[in-house]
Amino acid sequence: MTTLILGGGISGLVTAWELQKRGAEVEVWEAQETAGGWVHTMPWPDPQGRPGHLERGPQGVLIAPGSAADRLFKELDLEAKSPGHGARWVGKGGLLLPVPSAPVALLFSRLMSVSAKLRMMMEPFIKVRSKEPEEGLSAFVARRLGRGVAEDLLPAMVAGILAAPAESLSVDALPKLLQWEAAGSLFQGMRQGGRSALMVPKGGMGMLPKKLAARIPGLRTGLRAEGIEALDAGRWRVWGGGEVREVDRLLLALPAFEAATLLGPIAPQSAEALGDIPYTSVRLRNSRHAPLAPLKDSFGFLVHPPEGHGFLGALVPSWIDPDSAPSDLMQLRVFLGGAFEMDRSLSESAGVQRVLNSWVPELGEAVQIREEFAERAIPRPVLGHRARVEAALGGLPKGIDWISNARFGPGVRDVIEGVEGWLKA
Ligand SMILES: Cc1cc2nc3c(=O)[nH]c(=O)nc-3n(C[C@H](O)[C@H](O)[C@H](O)COP(=O)(O)OP(=O)(O)OC[C@H]3O[C@@H](n4cnc5c(N)ncnc54)[C@H](O)[C@@H]3O)c2cc1C
Repeated sequence: MTTLILGGGISGLVTAWELQKRGAEVEVWEAQETAGGWVHTMPWPDPQGRPGHLERGPQGVLIAPGSAADRLFKELDLEAKSPGHGARWVGKGGLLLPVPSAPVALLFSRLMSVSAKLRMMMEPFIKVRSKEPEEGLSAFVARRLGRGVAEDLLPAMVAGILAAPAESLSVDALPKLLQWEAAGSLFQGMRQGGRSALMVPKGGMGMLPKKLAARIPGLRTGLRAEGIEALDAGRWRVWGGGEVREVDRLLLALPAFEAATLLGPIAPQSAEALGDIPYTSVRLRNSRHAPLAPLKDSFGFLVHPPEGHGFLGALVPSWIDPDSAPSDLMQLRVFLGGAFEMDRSLSESAGVQRVLNSWVPELGEAVQIREEFAERAIPRPVLGHRARVEAALGGLPKGIDWISNARFGPGVRDVIEGVEGWLKA
C-alpha cells in the first residue's frame, strides 16, 4: 500500500521518514523546488562576496537529550552544535533587562516585582487542573505562575515565538505547557523532560530537510497537489502538475489553509474548521553591522509588546550560527509586525534602525540589509483552537489524516515529537 504525503515541509518529511523506517512505501509531493518548507537556509554573501547565510524560518531546534529530535539528528548523522546559553534580554521600560537562563535565577531578576517572584515560587504547589475546558494561554500562566509572569514576561516570550499577543491565544499554542503541568507542575515537567539546548546544524537549518530528502526516494519536488476525489473502496485519486495517483492512504502535511482548499469538495466539515485557523505573517529584516559587545555574543532581545509597537525583537544569527556571517560582521534578524499593529515608521529601514538604536544606542548603521516577508507563516492558535482541530480531525474520511505544526505545536521539535506520538496512537 502506497502512502501519499502532500507537503514536503518538516512535518511531511519526518512522517515520510518514520513510515519508511517501518517498511511503508511512501511518496511525497512538495510544491516548491526544494523540500523543507519554512526550514530553508539561503546563501547571503557579504558585499565583498564572502560566504554567509540567513534562515527562511527557524534558527535552530530545541533538543533535550534522548528526545525524538535528538534521536532524529543522530539517525541522520546531522552534525550540529549548540551556541550555548548566551545572554538575552527583554526590552521593557526603555531598558534591556537580562533574562536568566535558569528559572530559579529569575528570583534575582529585575524583570518582575518581589511579590511576583514569590508567587512564581508557589508553582509546584498549585493544583493540577483538568485539560478541559480549554484555557487561555495568559490565564494558564497566571494560574500556575502568577499574574506577574503572565503580564511582565510572557507577552515578549510569546511574541518571539508566535508573533502574536499572548492574551489572544489558547494554552494549546504551546502544548509543552500542558505536558509539563500533567507531570505535577511546570517545574517538575521541565526537569523530567531534561534540559533542552538550541542545536544548529552545520551549514544551517536547511541541512535537516536536505538530509531527510536524501533518504526519501519517493520525494517529488515541484509538484503541487491540485485536487482530491473519492474513489470506490475507500481509495483516493489525487492530481496535480499533470500527475495522477490512486492511493489508499493520504496524509496532508500542509498548513491548515492549504489542507482546507484540497479538502473542501470531499470533507466540508474538516475544510471549514481548518479554514478557520488563522495564520500570522511576519516581516524579517536581516542586517549586518560592525560587531558590538555585548550584543554580538548574545542570543538577542525581545521587546515587551506594548512598548514595541510592532517591533518584536532582534536575534543575533551570527552568534547562534557563526557561519551566518564573516567573523568581522554581526548579523541581526529583526521581527516586525506579526499579529500586532505596527507603527508606520517601521515600514522604512531608517525607522527600524532608529528603534534598534533606542535599545542599543551604540549600534552602527547596517552595511548590508535584506528584507524577507514570511506570509501566513505561523499558525495562530487563538482560544477555540482545540475545538477547531477536533472538528477538522473528526470530519476527515477514512484513509486521510492531517499533520502540521498547527496540530502539534509551533516549533520543529513539537512537529518531530507530534509525528512520533501520532505514529504510536
Ligand atoms: C520566521 C519563522 C521562524 C521560526 N523559528 C523557529 C525556531 O527558531 N525554532 C523552531 O523550532 N521553529 C521555528 N519556526 C517554526 C517552524 O519553522 C515550523 O514549525 C515548521 O517548519 C513547520 O513545518 P510544516 O511542515 O508543518 O509546515 P511548512 O514548513 O509550511 O511545510 C508545508 C509544505 O507544504 C508545501 N505545500 C503547500 N501546499 C502544497 C500542495 N498543494 N501540494 C504539495 N505541497 C504543498 C509547502 O510548499 C511546504 O513546503 C519558525 C517559523 C517561521 C516562519
